[in-house]
Amino acid sequence: MFVGHYSVAFAAKIERNRIPLWVLFLAVQFLDYIWAALVLLGIEKLHVIKGFTAGSMLDSYFHPYSHSLITAILWSGVAAISYKPFCRWLGYAYTKSAALIVGLAVFSHWILDLVAHPRDLAIYDNKWKVGFGLWNYRDPEFALEIALLAGGIALYLARNAMPAIRKGAVIAFGIALVIVQIGDTYVPRTPLTDKATAMGVWVFYTLFVLIAFAVEKIGSRREN
Ligand SMILES: [Zn+2]
Repeated sequence: MFVGHYSVAFAAKIERNRIPLWVLFLAVQFLDYIWAALVLLGIEKLHVIKGFTAGSMLDSYFHPYSHSLITAILWSGVAAISYKPFCRWLGYAYTKSAALIVGLAVFSHWILDLVAHPRDLAIYDNKWKVGFGLWNYRDPEFALEIALLAGGIALYLARNAMPAIRKGAVIAFGIALVIVQIGDTYVPRTPLTDKATAMGVWVFYTLFVLIAFAVEKIGSRREN
């Protein structure tokens, strides 16, 4: 699962919870940030194999700290608890329910990965691996990613009042994410090394976080 994760970020944002979209973009990929960092450190392992599944080249054969069910729950708790000091640090409005939503956004990553991944998600440690393997079916997996993203963006637009110019930017961002997913799913490429893949995760995910930050600033100059 790739851009489909961002559907949760868009869907979770309502005016009342005041969670910045960029924070939710970080939350829904939090487990992958940890995963990529641990791959770079040589702690978690991955093979990048052309045609490993129809929709992905990633053979994540060892990722018990970032992607087991138990650690996913732990990381979600860490994120929820950290939200209060995080808000204080950055001067954002804090509520307990917002912290809960951030924690659930982090956990949503595991649930969506469960749908897409082949059986490589451990329940605990590196044991009892699960995964519904939708990545073995390229078109349905792609369709699910896009349907989720479109649904999330539709909810975001419906539940957050914003100027027309920002609405346009959100839709353009959505289209850009669809194009990124088309590239990822359908454009043939030579497999990168494991470390280069992990670096790419950090670079691209952070780029999306920055765009999410910028998008919510559009048209808000005169609010104060
Ligand atoms: Zn993941």
